[in-house]
Amino acid sequence: MGVAVFGGSFDPLHIGHLHVAESARGISWVDTVYFVPAGRPPHKRLSGSADSRTRLAIIHACIAERPYLDVLDWELSHTEPSYTFPTIERIRRETPDQEPVGLIVGTDLLQDFASWHNWEALLSMVTLLLTRHPTGDDPRSFLTEDYLKSVPAALRAGIQSAVVIDHVPLPVSSTVIRSRIQQGLNVRDLVPPAAWQIIQHRRLYGL
Ligand code: ATP
Repeated sequence: MGVAVFGGSFDPLHIGHLHVAESARGISWVDTVYFVPAGRPPHKRLSGSADSRTRLAIIHACIAERPYLDVLDWELSHTEPSYTFPTIERIRRETPDQEPVGLIVGTDLLQDFASWHNWEALLSMVTLLLTRHPTGDDPRSFLTEDYLKSVPAALRAGIQSAVVIDHVPLPVSSTVIRSRIQQGLNVRDLVPPAAWQIIQHRRLYGL
């Protein structure tokens, strides 16, 4: 068996994230999926959003009844930018050698994967588990011959060891949720019930 790592801002966690995490368990060797909320994502500004502790509390509340989902808060305690590489390095060290480590990556991020910190070393340690982000391409296209010819050789090697997570593409993102709340629009069923409770209770995202 092995683990899957799901990094992101989770600002907030939404039904698309939860559905992807549940669906990753459809891969035969995945027994636990770890959410890894980013402290300060290098590619993203977090202003106008929920603080780290609140984002973490939402994840904890949403996965409480699901023992096969867990959360690692390692990146939240760092003051430097969050990078996936040291997190995966630590998980790899703590996971028995024969067990694979999967890295869940949405197709919005995969396009820029070769700009990630230490991406080649990162690829050598994981199996990519591809998901379809509403703003990205169909992950199946990343496994086609034509696509593979257009990417750098090392990325190609990693992508060849990738698996597509079989999930229903849900057209929801945290950006959509934050922006709808700011506009006074309904988001109730776009986040898990436990997340909605916290958003209401703490009046997050301008509610
Ligand atoms: P934002 O809109 O703030 O950029 P997001 O909804 O894309 O946020 P992140 O926390 O940045 O969520 O993403 C974490 C991971 O989840 C990324 O790999 C992203 O591609 C993936 N992801 C996010 N939303 C979906 C979705 N609806 N379906 C599949 N994957 C998703």
